[in-house]
Amino acid sequence: MRLRLIMLFIMFILLGGSFAPAQLSAASSPQDEPVSKSDSSEEEQLTLGQLRQKYADTFKTNGPSTKQVALTFDDVPDPRFTPQVLDILKKYKVRATFFIVGNRAEKHPDLVRRMVKEGHIVGNHSYNHPEFSKLSMNAFRKQILHTGDIIRDLAGYTPKMIRPPYGDINEQQLQWSAKQRYSIVNWNVDSLDWKGLPKDKVKENILSAVKPGSIVLQHAGGGVGSNLNGTIEALPEVIKELRNRGYELVTLDEMLGLPKGK
Ligand SMILES: [Zn+2]
Repeated sequence: MRLRLIMLFIMFILLGGSFAPAQLSAASSPQDEPVSKSDSSEEEQLTLGQLRQKYADTFKTNGPSTKQVALTFDDVPDPRFTPQVLDILKKYKVRATFFIVGNRAEKHPDLVRRMVKEGHIVGNHSYNHPEFSKLSMNAFRKQILHTGDIIRDLAGYTPKMIRPPYGDINEQQLQWSAKQRYSIVNWNVDSLDWKGLPKDKVKENILSAVKPGSIVLQHAGGGVGSNLNGTIEALPEVIKELRNRGYELVTLDEMLGLPKGK
């Protein structure tokens, strides 16, 4: 019996057991963590907000505080929703900005031609909607350049404005964009319409947040099973209410004083 206890004790020591009080090991964790973190990671990634400040000339989320609002529609063209949005804009004589996904433009080129013909402007929303910050620089450049070529063939210009999918972009990609004279244009009013929200909710999300110089994010295209009926039903009322409040509805090139093409 005694021998067994001694054997167990020896095994315990050999396996790295310790008699130190539990408190001691606990004391070394949470408080010390930030110190060792900042020691090890030399370059902290800037947040999108910080990047926007640092690259203010390239990266925009709003225009000047004049009584203008820009309606923008992402993830186009999509035959289920884009024609309906175009019909409403035409009826109310509103010109807007559409951010085009390259592989969708390849499938539905006539819808891109229609946007341009009806006075809207188009921007670059990548080739197949990846999260830019997770891409290599090479893959990122390909997304922009290839889509730019597709759009140029349909619209007659290579868009100057890029809207990153999910609004997401990293510093190196921003630096490249600046050098290549692109503008990155996100938004400061989010309709959250991609969630399939009902008309009243879409309307409220826009009208409760809008102010002079606002860039409004909506969608006129979506994935499998997307429902943008809320956007389509809300749009006439959003337009009427914005005009009641004295806003002029403009395209992004007008609002930001930028050329639409490179
Ligand atoms: Zn998108």
